[in-house]
Amino acid sequence: MSLNTLSEISTLWQRILQDLSKELDKMVYDAFLKDSYIHSIDNDKMIIASNSSLAASILNQQYIDLITGIVHRETGTNFKVIFVNQDEIPSKSPTEFENEGNSNFFKNCILDPQFTFDNFVVGPSNKEASQASLIAASTPGQFYNPLFIYGGSGLGKTHLLNAIGNYVKERTPSMKVLYVTAQDFLYQYLDYVNGDQKNENLSKYIKGFDVFLLDDVQMLKDKKKTLEFFFDIYQYFMQNKKQIVLSSDRLPCELDGIDNRLVSRFMDGLTVQVSKPSTEMCEDILKKKIIGAGLSVEEFDPEVISFIAEKFKSSIRELNGALNRIIFIKNIRHADHINIELTCDALSNLVNVSDAKSRVSEQKILNNVSSYYNLSVNQITGKLKTGSIVNARHIAIYLIRSMLDVPLKQIGELFSNRDHTTIMYSVKKVEKMLTTDHETKVVLDELKKRISA
Ligand code: ADP
Ligand code: MG
Repeated sequence: MSLNTLSEISTLWQRILQDLSKELDKMVYDAFLKDSYIHSIDNDKMIIASNSSLAASILNQQYIDLITGIVHRETGTNFKVIFVNQDEIPSKSPTEFENEGNSNFFKNCILDPQFTFDNFVVGPSNKEASQASLIAASTPGQFYNPLFIYGGSGLGKTHLLNAIGNYVKERTPSMKVLYVTAQDFLYQYLDYVNGDQKNENLSKYIKGFDVFLLDDVQMLKDKKKTLEFFFDIYQYFMQNKKQIVLSSDRLPCELDGIDNRLVSRFMDGLTVQVSKPSTEMCEDILKKKIIGAGLSVEEFDPEVISFIAEKFKSSIRELNGALNRIIFIKNIRHADHINIELTCDALSNLVNVSDAKSRVSEQKILNNVSSYYNLSVNQITGKLKTGSIVNARHIAIYLIRSMLDVPLKQIGELFSNRDHTTIMYSVKKVEKMLTTDHETKVVLDELKKRISA
């Protein structure tokens, strides 16, 4: 994050503290909050360092709603606020911080209410997975059992597992749903077998659920005893027609380090993939998230949307993180519009933004020319040779070449892989029109004015 932004963040926290000091008992404020600071912002989490583990635990348990409300009011984002003890920061990851609950088994086995089918954008990359999930959620244990969802990180597996759980709970509140990450499953099992085992029985506890959602099953690799324990539970669920949904970063047959008898059973049900979305789908997701954050898409320059979608399309998690940062910077600067400069400031520590201006300028030229001629960008960059389209195409090519000095070859790639001689032809054509036709000059001046605005 740029220095500028860092100081903005610390100013923001000071403002939040000021609000909090008015709402909290002075003793509580002085003891726990006064010297806190924003340690980091990680996707949708804002990690705040506090002066002791006692402070962190009290703030997380008793004051989190009040504090989250104020953060929300000041930043307009829905950051999840997590307090941590500043002395423990290097050794823990943000997700571990969340897990400091205090129930018996699976302290953190709570469904995330924010992950629903309603806010899951469906496109070619996840259509099968989302349909299968919806079917499993509507008819638990009946058809796709187990349902196995696999795919790369940040592509929606955890979202789908939670959406299934939330859907089941909403439709049939009497059904018991257990959501656990494989890592929590492993730790819980180890705790259990190494403890005195006087209290509840872990196996019985899990078998009491109707739907078992196990996230990131690849984490059980080589954990022989845990896998045996899981196998018994798995068999029980299958025999009793209770639903199991598993997620993994790879196909069942690629799960080395996991017993073959389990792997082959994973394939008894249905295996579906979530893959990387296209840029267009990312734009849809982004627009949905923008609206979800209470903003309107019109507040963003169109080239900002295409820039973020293009840069972060390999992980929707990172796409969300990028959007959160942008909204955050927009709010602390009190900006009413999000342009490419603000975007670059917000994202400069996440991605290389050096190409942003030239890339988006090409986009900006295309957007302006297409709206001027009432055409779509695809028509302008496409292959159709209708008269009005061809003219707009010549103008767009000329503007890109003359305003940005982009190499002919690169322009060709932008225009459906035309070769450089075709691009040169367009440039020459417009140059010639400029000498003979006054109207062309008027049009170009108007377009340049709009593009530079
Ligand atoms: P995974 O578990 O595959 O690593 P997640 O389910 O945690 O990925 O998704 C990462 C983030 O991206 C989450 O905030 C999730 O809500 C969001 N996300 C993923 N896919 C979609 C989608 N199709 N529509 C909306 N949000 C999505
Ligand atoms: Mg996940």
